[in-house]
Amino acid sequence: MRVLVIGAGPAGMRCAESLAAAGMEVVLCGEEPALPYDRVALGRVLGGEAEPQALITHDAAQLRALGIAYRPAVRIAALDVMARRALTARDEAIGWDRAVLATGSEPIRLALPGAELPGVFVYRRIADVLAMRRHLVPGMRVAVIGGGLLGLEAAAALAGRGARVTVVHAAAWPMERQLDAGAGALLARGIASRCGLRFLMPTAAEAIEGEGAVRALRLADGTRLAAEMVVMAVGVRPNLALARQAGLACARGILVDEAMRTSAPGVLAIGECAEHRGVVCGLVAPALAMAETAAATIAGRADAYVPRPDAAVLKVAGIALFSAGEIAPPGTEAITLQDPGAGLYRRLWLRGGRLVGAVLHGATADAPFFLDLIATGREVAALRPMLAFGPAFQEAA
Ligand SMILES: Cc1cc2nc3c(=O)[nH]c(=O)nc-3n(C[C@H](O)[C@H](O)[C@H](O)COP(=O)(O)OP(=O)(O)OC[C@H]3O[C@@H](n4cnc5c(N)ncnc54)[C@H](O)[C@@H]3O)c2cc1C
Repeated sequence: MRVLVIGAGPAGMRCAESLAAAGMEVVLCGEEPALPYDRVALGRVLGGEAEPQALITHDAAQLRALGIAYRPAVRIAALDVMARRALTARDEAIGWDRAVLATGSEPIRLALPGAELPGVFVYRRIADVLAMRRHLVPGMRVAVIGGGLLGLEAAAALAGRGARVTVVHAAAWPMERQLDAGAGALLARGIASRCGLRFLMPTAAEAIEGEGAVRALRLADGTRLAAEMVVMAVGVRPNLALARQAGLACARGILVDEAMRTSAPGVLAIGECAEHRGVVCGLVAPALAMAETAAATIAGRADAYVPRPDAAVLKVAGIALFSAGEIAPPGTEAITLQDPGAGLYRRLWLRGGRLVGAVLHGATADAPFFLDLIATGREVAALRPMLAFGPAFQEAA
């Protein structure tokens, strides 16, 4: 059976590997010109701790040895699901018995006046990171729009390279979807002092000013923030162009069932482009789990993708931060453990005697314990007196 995997991010690469190991003929097409690389580690290249070469996960010889026909810099422009044929952007036809869309996400570019100026960047691909590195000079003033995981990571990396960085964030604290106010305030203080950057929040960017080059970012309250570089890190959206062209049913992502099958026979979708039970994932772990399920489905093995609660881990400036499950949801009880002097903060949310969400700041060694309680939905009433202290204290309780 010949399987065409479209997109060579972590989901596409993992699926191709599993399919090849099961003896299938695998063609893996990736729009990016590079060999498959570790997108999660892009911050190390941006921060100058690693060169792009170090991020490559599979070189040409390894791909050949795995039995994967890898086609870099090949964008699949059209998919004919009846004829089981794909057409590349250069009009080359590729036949397939099964097709797997692993087209991932694209970064959102705010349609601000001035957004097209040189010096305005997004942060998703190795090409974005190399373009930022070329533009940056030490001492440059940089405005990062967005204080989510990626915005903070970009801000810290750029500050580490000598830029004077301001994070402009629309919410009252960074990572507001993963953190409550208490952890958010600690995080903002920690990053600002460790990385030497500052936050302006809550505020919105309104326009990028400059002629031929970025000069300033104008904010909603009229403030003009001088800047020679702007990084937009305001989220991603699933890359659905090909799925829509092929007539696949899409909502926020490509609709898939628990076996990763789309609405078209013989076509599957995995990773950040797929939507399973109303959820589009944004992390590597679920993307890889979907890849394994799709490979099993194609090989004729029964397998069902079981979503696990998302866990976010920040990789910035040695700050230990973990967040999982539902954060400050209504109708829950919260347990808080706090040592402000030591920068320690834990908040747990319980509903009906079960843990549904957790935030840990300052010490995260107990993260697997809390993640497991959230994932299994175990009754924790008996653990409650010592719950916030983590697994080491459970026997004492
Ligand atoms: C800087 C950064 C740091 C991150 N850190 C973390 C982290 O710490 N932990 C974590 O879990 N997640 C992290 N993420 C998110 C993680 O990278 C994504 O969840 C993951 O890459 C999703 O994998 P994917 O294969 O679904 O999509 P992608 O990685 O987006 O790969 C999709 C690929 O498909 C290609 N493509 C799209 N359309 C076509 C087409 N028509 N033809 C051919 N190719 C096509 C794209 O060019 C792309 O290369 C980070 C992301 C970034 C950008």
